[in-house]
Amino acid sequence: MDFYLGIDFGTSGVRGVVINHEACTQAEIKHPWADGAVTNLADSWHGALFRLLTQIPEKLRREIKGIAINGTSSTVLLCDAAGQPVDAPLLYNDGRGAVVLPQLKSIAPRQSNVLSATSSLVKLLWMVQQPSFSKARYFLHQADWLGFLLHGYLGISDYHNALKLGYDVEELKYPQWLEKLELPIQLPRVLPPGTPIAKLRPEIATQFHFPDDCLVYAGTTDSIAAFLASGAKYPGEAVTSLGSTLAVKLLSRTRVEDARYGIYSHRWGNLWLTGGASNTGGAVLKQFFSDAELERLSSEIDITRASELDYYPLLRPGDRFPINDPALPPRLTPRPESSVEFLHGLLESIARIEATGYKLLQKMGADKLTRVYTAGGGAVNSTWSRIRERHLKVSVMSSLHREAAYGTALLAMRGTDFFN
Ligand code: ADP
Repeated sequence: MDFYLGIDFGTSGVRGVVINHEACTQAEIKHPWADGAVTNLADSWHGALFRLLTQIPEKLRREIKGIAINGTSSTVLLCDAAGQPVDAPLLYNDGRGAVVLPQLKSIAPRQSNVLSATSSLVKLLWMVQQPSFSKARYFLHQADWLGFLLHGYLGISDYHNALKLGYDVEELKYPQWLEKLELPIQLPRVLPPGTPIAKLRPEIATQFHFPDDCLVYAGTTDSIAAFLASGAKYPGEAVTSLGSTLAVKLLSRTRVEDARYGIYSHRWGNLWLTGGASNTGGAVLKQFFSDAELERLSSEIDITRASELDYYPLLRPGDRFPINDPALPPRLTPRPESSVEFLHGLLESIARIEATGYKLLQKMGADKLTRVYTAGGGAVNSTWSRIRERHLKVSVMSSLHREAAYGTALLAMRGTDFFN
């Protein structure tokens, strides 16, 4: 039997899923990241990757024919000619690069998604100014570097990870304006996600008992891997991620971009994965309720009646999508005495923001919404799903598979055909 391994380097930990040729899960491995600062991040990723390989039952390992890895979007590092990191990687949410934004603003197109303090390109421009840069030969995303550890080739990426580096995913080349930056480093060669790159290094195949012809495929980002896992595949189908924050992604025949709202489109074969992210979401619920309270109080909500409470739940001022206002104040009053009523108002208000988000994407030209899958901690809340259906006016269901690693295993199985 042939098996396929997907590996997810996410924000909360590393996970692996092995599937068979019918896409049924055969094994699942999880490692949460340790709390507190890690002294050497790249070393900890390296260790986690190989620990995960050893934990896959050997009888599955012997028949794994394909491996793909997803990393967190915009987590990047510099390495030398041997693939050794020359400095600590910069994590997805590292905003130190904000200081180079004015320089980039004078060169990049106004609508470009690189114009954010945490984009990969901004991080690279910041790294160029650091003393360790003199030793650097390659700039890589987390998934590119972890892939290199398995196949041995440096300087290769995929067009999902490379979007925030400025790669033109429509023309499939680096844009001309990037040349004006005169970047003193080799940018990765960009492949469609799911392209076979090379066989697993022979020494790894031997040591861990993988077949000699096991292939390593170009990977993707964590949120796209979650979309791959969801079951959504037709234009009009969407995935809402109800985690600490709210993110929406809608598959569309049309590409939509608007930097003001943080809206951009990933390439999906001949389609586009359009999306935006709001600061509202589960982190605000967590401020008031434990997970157990959320479950109990939600079951007491009368879903036949809409709550009249009109909140904009935020932890601190400011949102970008669907309202672009860095000073937008959180609105969490009036607070009723009943916790059930308060939670009803919060869930109803987040559902309203979600629906406004999808309306904005459609107004900009994305396909008409037909169905919404749900990922993240809020996906288990069926009361919320019914409230969201009322606002979204389409059916709302849980993602078929909620592990990003499962989506990445599908990528290792189907390769670039996944997007056709
Ligand atoms: P993260 O984005 O941090 O990975 P998760 O996907 O793990 O987030 O989801 C965690 C969030 O889910 C928490 O903020 C929590 O408030 C929320 N959550 C947990 N249980 C429920 C529930 N039953 N209903 C709504 N939200 C929930």
